[in-house]
Amino acid sequence: MFTNFKKNLGQNFLRDKYYLNKIVDCSSFNIHSNLLEIGPGDGALTEYLNNKSKSLTLVEIDNDLIRILSKKFELSKNLILKHKDFLKLNLSEVKKENLFIFGNLPYNASSQIILKILESDIVYSECIFLIQKELALRFAPEYKKSTKLSMQTKLLANIEILFDVPNTAFEPMPEVTSSVIKITKDKKYIDNSIDYLKFKKILQVCFSHPRKKILFPLKKIFSTVPSFSFSLDKRPEELIINDYLEILNKYGKKI
Ligand code: SAM
Repeated sequence: MFTNFKKNLGQNFLRDKYYLNKIVDCSSFNIHSNLLEIGPGDGALTEYLNNKSKSLTLVEIDNDLIRILSKKFELSKNLILKHKDFLKLNLSEVKKENLFIFGNLPYNASSQIILKILESDIVYSECIFLIQKELALRFAPEYKKSTKLSMQTKLLANIEILFDVPNTAFEPMPEVTSSVIKITKDKKYIDNSIDYLKFKKILQVCFSHPRKKILFPLKKIFSTVPSFSFSLDKRPEELIINDYLEILNKYGKKI
């Protein structure tokens, strides 16, 4: 069993069989699905996925783990191992139908990995990721609070937190609790008229002072703040996606 953990690669391996099973069971893939696992480590989750599917691609950055994985699994055209940094991977390499993506993601690259997938044009059926709970709550906040990340990703997908995983389930043990999230593509809020980059810039300004009333950042965006359907006394976290789309819409029309 691998023990030479590299902190800079976020190597906290999930060892608890109960949660490994639970992660596989919460997904709706079947034997005909194409599976992709990001950061398979020494292959704990991989074993479960491999037993239940005919097509699995693994993307791992660490040379030592590549050696372990190549010995542990019989590689074939149905079980492909890529020695790559997922952040540099050309996603056309994994463009497949009926694609399900899994990963106990490295904590230092989780949000970049998730955004890379969401902002790409790959058609995935579902992503099941294990990430730090604090980040999960930024993607899918409780009590209807908005965050910059939740508003940004709302245009691209539906993200829900399925369950928490305690730190004792990992080796080495991280300091914090993790959560399993499920991502499904959902573009009901976006159409061709929406400029995603402009939307991100607006969110950047609006959430730069989260404690101030929304009027404050709006004054930076508009020379004369127009009227809106929401109260300008609200804080950025109290606005919902339609409010931010209203800001974008009015910003788009400004001279
Ligand atoms: N899946 C294993 C498990 O659950 O036991 C390991 C999960 S560990 C949290 C994260 C894994 O991602 C490690 O194997 C690490 O080497 C790998 N990794 C880190 N950064 C990566 C990147 N940019 N691209 C691909 N793999 C990466």
